[in-house]
Amino acid sequence: MSTIAAISTAQGEGGIGVIRISGENSAEIADKIFKSVSGKKLSEIEGYRALFGNIYKEGEVIDEAVALNFKAPHSFTGENVVELSCHGGVFITREVLSAVIDAGAVLAEPGEFTKRAYLNGKMDLTEAEAVMDLISAKSKSAARAAMYVKEGTLFKKSRAVKESLLTTAAHLSAWADYPEEDIPEVTDNSVLQSVKNSIDVLSKLLSTYNIGQAVKEGIDTVIVGRPNAGKSTLMNILSGVERSIVTSIEGTTRDVIEDTVVVGNVILRLSDTAGIRQTDNEIEKIGVEKTLKKIESASLVIALFDGSKPLTDEDISLIDKIKNVPSIAVINKTDLESNINTEYIIKNIENTVFISAKNEDNIDELRNIIEKLAGTENFDPSAGIIANERQKNAVKKAVDSLKEAESALKFGFTMDAVTVLISEAIDYLLELTGEKAGEEIVDRVFHNFCVGK
Ligand code: GDP
Repeated sequence: MSTIAAISTAQGEGGIGVIRISGENSAEIADKIFKSVSGKKLSEIEGYRALFGNIYKEGEVIDEAVALNFKAPHSFTGENVVELSCHGGVFITREVLSAVIDAGAVLAEPGEFTKRAYLNGKMDLTEAEAVMDLISAKSKSAARAAMYVKEGTLFKKSRAVKESLLTTAAHLSAWADYPEEDIPEVTDNSVLQSVKNSIDVLSKLLSTYNIGQAVKEGIDTVIVGRPNAGKSTLMNILSGVERSIVTSIEGTTRDVIEDTVVVGNVILRLSDTAGIRQTDNEIEKIGVEKTLKKIESASLVIALFDGSKPLTDEDISLIDKIKNVPSIAVINKTDLESNINTEYIIKNIENTVFISAKNEDNIDELRNIIEKLAGTENFDPSAGIIANERQKNAVKKAVDSLKEAESALKFGFTMDAVTVLISEAIDYLLELTGEKAGEEIVDRVFHNFCVGK
């Protein structure tokens, strides 16, 4: 395999920038452009040593650098790796990379370092995907969940199921192929039990997908309510910044504003809206249309009501619009005298909470309800999550095959048919971890990576 190189740090100005080189000739290639102050060569020193020196391009010193030497197989990729830490700047890191390329390395493809780590058996496919998730994590919970998958939680769970199914399948084959041997008879019941247990474990794993998405990607949330109900104020509290303009003139927040906030374990992708009142104003009409569309497609609606004012027809039609979608009714302004009859709200919307956005009263209760609805209130990142569509599909297909095996057993099909279905499920689990994944699947996984990772 060729020796590859790329800039592994973000493109921008920073204290240091790292150019990573991986492949058999990493040290020899680096030696052509890096001269250490001590005179030692990277190709001659042991692994896990650093040298300080200068980087040369076309005979000229272009930067100083620290060169780190890793020897196969004890490196990220499992190959010989050299990391050149030079000064972090867009121009200088590109110059150093171009010197490395001139010296014989080829430009790494996106995700190629991690792909090589996978191909060299340093990690399975779920762990490789978790590397990317860790880099793109937007919250502490998302980062922790990715870290646990990177440590192999998903791989280990899938392996345990796979091992148990393999034992069952092997037993079935042996018993069918060598009837004269003294192999204990496989009973329908013992096979059924093994299949059922596997379905249970995998189904539980599948159920982590939606929660995982809420933690990782966030859920589409709409804040809606009459002008002046306190939507912008609440949104500012949730996001912790002055996000939308708060004024006491009705109808200020006309447009749908997007923002991302972290509430406990869950990320909310918030849209603040114009409310849904009847209006002749063309611009406001567009806002109202947008709000209605948003409500239809949202995963969560937070409806705000001004507790200091009586409920209006507009509030009633909002309640009717959202009563069948996951929603929270927030009755705001508890610091003012209450003038609202909440009966209709409570009757139609399961989750109701009283707050004062201005004084930040009872916001924690709102946060708890949000987490309860998102399913993330007891989220345990160490239990491992199904992190993406690819993983979900592989596990789902394994469960489907096992369910077929279960029916086959119940309807008294031959054990051959059952063995085929169990083997199919095992194959899907091997696809999940990448132990038996086609090139196309592997390429698709790494396609989404950034260059240098
Ligand atoms: P929006 O139109 O729904 O976005 O409402 P805003 O967030 O802009 O708030 C409208 C007005 O109500 C502002 O003057 C806020 O300061 C005020 N307001 C918001 N929440 C509360 C609250 O809990 N109590 C009181 N007394 N005033 C509030």
